[in-house]
Parts: sequence; C-alpha cells; structure tokens
Amino acid sequence: MTEPLAPGATIGILGGGQLGRMIAMAAAKLGLKAHIYSPDAESPAFDVAAAHTIADYEDEEALRTFAASVDVITYEFENVPARTASVLAALKPVRPDAAALAASQDRLVEKEFITSLDIPTAPFIGVDSAGALARAVAQLGRPSILKTRRFGYDGKGQALIREGSDLAVTFRSLGAVPAILEGVVPFTKEISVVAARGLDGSFAAYDVCENHHEHHILDRTIAPAAIAPETAGRAIAIAKSIADALDYAGVLAVELFLTVEQGKEVIRVNEIAPRVHNSGHWTLDGAVTSQFEQHVRAICGWPLGQTARHGTRVEMRNLIGDDILAWRDILAESGVSLTLYGKMEARPGRKMGHTTQVFHDA
Ligand code: AMP
Repeated sequence: MTEPLAPGATIGILGGGQLGRMIAMAAAKLGLKAHIYSPDAESPAFDVAAAHTIADYEDEEALRTFAASVDVITYEFENVPARTASVLAALKPVRPDAAALAASQDRLVEKEFITSLDIPTAPFIGVDSAGALARAVAQLGRPSILKTRRFGYDGKGQALIREGSDLAVTFRSLGAVPAILEGVVPFTKEISVVAARGLDGSFAAYDVCENHHEHHILDRTIAPAAIAPETAGRAIAIAKSIADALDYAGVLAVELFLTVEQGKEVIRVNEIAPRVHNSGHWTLDGAVTSQFEQHVRAICGWPLGQTARHGTRVEMRNLIGDDILAWRDILAESGVSLTLYGKMEARPGRKMGHTTQVFHDA
C-alpha cells in the first residue's frame, strides 16, 4: 500500500519507551492516533497514546489483533524479532521494512551491507569461535574491539582486546556467541546523520551533529558538528545511499567516526539505526520539523518537512538517572527546554529526559 494515510489514521508503534512516546506525540500533533504495543506494563508511551496493548512480541494472536486496529506499523527499536515483523507485515505495512531491520540487527550483516555500498567502516572480521578470534586478532592487531553480532547497545556486548588480553576468556565473557572483531578507529569525533526518506523516494537530512558519550551512553549532542562542510556533505551522501539502497521509509540515523588523516577529515560508518535516534532529539526544539514528526510524515506517505535548524547552534543534553533530580533548576533556566519521559524510577544509566538549548551566537 503506497496510498498516503489521512489524518485520523492510527499508527501502530512497537515499543513503549521515550522514542515511541515522542513519535505518538508527533502523531497526535498531526491529527493521527497512536497504538503502542509493548510487553512492559509501565511503558511511558502508554500515557500519550489513544490505545495500547501489553503483550510479548512473540504473541501472534495479540500481534494480529494489534495489526487489525492500525493503518501502518513502525517501531522504536531495531531488535524487533524477524518473526514478529513478518507476522505484522502480512497484515499491514511495516515501515521501515524487514530489509532495514535485517541490515541493522546484526553487526556483521550491517558492516557487509555498508561495505557493499563502497562506504568505509572500521576494519572487521566475523568471529564465531575462540580460534577464529585468535586468527582475527592476528590480522587486525591490538587494540581491537570484540562485539556480539546481535543485541548490543550503549557499549553492552563489547570487550576491548588489549596487549595481554586472554582471547578465549574474552570470547567467553561475551557469552561465546557469534561476534565481530573490529579494528579500533582512533576517532577525534563521533558524528551522526539523522535523515528521512519518504515513500516517494524524497530525502531530507538534518545538520550533521556531533555526539559526546559518558560511560558509553550519549551525554550531549551539538548541531551542527564542527567539521568541514565537505565532510558534512559526504556524511549526508552516505546516509542517502544507505536509505536508497534499502528503499527506506522513515527516519534513520547513521553514526560515524571522524578521523583526521594527513590533515584531511575521513569518515567511517559505525552503525545504522532504522528509527528515530537520541542524537536527533535536538530537532524537537531546534529544527523546523522534529525527527518524530518527520518519521510520522515519512511512514504515512506524506511530504517530508523542512529540516532547517533554528539558531546558530543547538545543544541537547540527556538527563540520565539522578540528573532528573535537577528538574526544577532546569525549568528555571532561561532558554532551556525540558522534555521528561514520564518514567517513574530513576535507575542509574536510565534515560529520564533531555534538555535542548538553541543558541544565537554572533
Ligand atoms: P557501538 O555500540 O558500536 O555504537 O559502540 C559504542 C561506542 O564504542 C562507540 O560510540 C565508540 O565510542 C566506541 N567504539 C565502538 N566501535 C569502535 C571502533 N571500531 N573503534 C573505536 N571506538 C569504537
């Protein structure tokens, strides 16, 4: 179905976290309804949606009932099980589709796909035994990074291999599961492109932004990234060729490493996320169209919105765990916009909200 949806239609969203919540709010802004599907009864997205289903992603009966009640289905996380996606896709359009999920769920498949487009990544080798790891380390050297092929995020499922690291122990420490060994990229910056592709193939990217992590979790995003304009242009062209190759519909994020080699900026893709992304939260207050509205537009077959940035610079800060306790002070700060995710418990490492500030530097 490529007919555009009309206002009043219902978007089904797999996942009830902050991303699903902000997609649902953007849907409401445009006169659409959201139905959230999540196994977690405490999902923050439920608070802002017209309907919700609490069920496992493997519950095919619940999936069918959910699909019958919505017009298009999207998701806030890329680890949607393949079977879940295929049950749903037989009933309603799932956007982005199974190709986008396949390309982003498995780090080896992802890197092979990106490399097949002639886009540089870190050097990598698939590894599925301790012996294979030893051979891969002999090739890529130390330090290098061993990552599980699946289910890694925020630095989880990763181990740094240094001089003296015991390879069999390291392989077992990640669960002895299929993995990928990557050469360490000596990056000076981590940047990302958040962009959208419409059902008609139209494409629109936000400013390339730079990301600063603390303890492997995104702490701060600054848009635009302080990089050469040609580098930004190359990063956006990379995002476009990935989106085109997947015949993608929706917002996607491409995370890249930037190195400086012989005085020139070089970029390599780290990973792709087939969804709205934390490094795009600045667009909520800092761009003409937020990434959430853009995603809704794209999956409904609507025209993409303008991606122009407000101000000269926009800064987004995540509120992680106890950072949230400062909410009153943040509210009192002039020019700072606060978004809270409605999570009841501030556990360490949990994303509780974020702030955005638009600067008008001289
Ligand atoms: P990932 O889960 O793959 O995004 O990795 C989490 C973080 O680990 C990245 O944001 C980087 O800071 C670091 N990292 C991952 N892979 C590499 C690599 N090949 N070289 C250098 N740093 C990396």
